[in-house]
Amino acid sequence: MRVINFNAGPAGLPLPALERARDELLDFQGTGMSVMEHSHRGREYEAVHNETISLLTELLGIPETHQVLFLTGGASQQFAQVPMNFLHPGTSADYLLTGVWSEKAYAEARLVGQARVAASTALPDKRYVRVPRQDELRLDLNAAYVHMSTNNTIFGTQWHVLPEVGEVPLVADMSSDFLWKPMDVSRFAFIYAGAQKNLGPSGVLIAVARRDFIARGRKDIPKVFRYSTHGENNSLYNTPPTFAIYLCRNVLAWVKELGGLEQLEKRNREKGELLYGCIDRHAGFYRAPVEVESRSYMNVVFRLPTPELEERFVAEAKQAGMAGLKGHRSVGGIRVSIYNAVSVEDVKALVSFMEEFVRRNG
Ligand SMILES: *Cc1c(COP(=O)(O)O)cnc(C)c1O
Repeated sequence: MRVINFNAGPAGLPLPALERARDELLDFQGTGMSVMEHSHRGREYEAVHNETISLLTELLGIPETHQVLFLTGGASQQFAQVPMNFLHPGTSADYLLTGVWSEKAYAEARLVGQARVAASTALPDKRYVRVPRQDELRLDLNAAYVHMSTNNTIFGTQWHVLPEVGEVPLVADMSSDFLWKPMDVSRFAFIYAGAQKNLGPSGVLIAVARRDFIARGRKDIPKVFRYSTHGENNSLYNTPPTFAIYLCRNVLAWVKELGGLEQLEKRNREKGELLYGCIDRHAGFYRAPVEVESRSYMNVVFRLPTPELEERFVAEAKQAGMAGLKGHRSVGGIRVSIYNAVSVEDVKALVSFMEEFVRRNG
């Protein structure tokens, strides 16, 4: 019996992607071994590798100027690797602080070189309830790059209008909203996203890199940390996480089957509106801290009148077959992660539970 999974990451995967993995696990395409037992240099694995890249390229409309990379170490490693590659001596990078993850990225950059805060929406108590407006950005026109997190997994905020950064390369951590809707890849010099939220299992990170940008990356760092090394070798410089990439392939094939990113966006907007609609209908009971224009369609965060009620909410939801609703340990409350794999029906089930919970406790 599978539960309705609202985990924040690692998160639920689409059932068809898992079933396909199950069916192919012991004998991948008649080869007598699983895909993870194949050589990463063999024909069978390479077909999976390249299919994953071409599915991503097709779904996102990735232009020739950009390429897909498979990396390891998660988004946390990119917090360090981005400045290692792009923060050339004598330059400075701009960071837009909108939550815990962007703060961590900024702290790593400061260990590597010079970085400044070009905007921050932190409240005095360190919470974040919105992303900055364009007129709040204090950008350095000569910055090596501007770094942002497009969706803030813990506080439940999301950028709905991208910042204008002029000619400065824009680098984005999209770990928790990559592929949630169609987007213009050409606006970014470097995109990265850990797979375990919207795309697949943990263990692989997907980057979409502008070729000329990574080619100009620093060469005075170890080869394995240079993005250009992985770019020049089609992400086969060393052994990639083959099974994780294979599962991403299954998920992307499911996305394509579903009708692509336009279809996903429709589903995701409907899910978000159902949930926020319920919260707003019962605003005296459920409290959404995030300002309306910054509300995330991936992580919906709200509070109940007391911590005791929040605990009961999580426990009773679990009994009703819904898992993963506890807010991040640093902020408390309730967090509903409604990534791509979560269906409209799943959210409808939660909304009727929420309606019922108010009736009994409101
Ligand atoms: C989860 C998350 C991370 C951390 O990912 P790891 O794979 O654990 O390093 C970084 N940034 C964002 C936006 C996230 O949601």
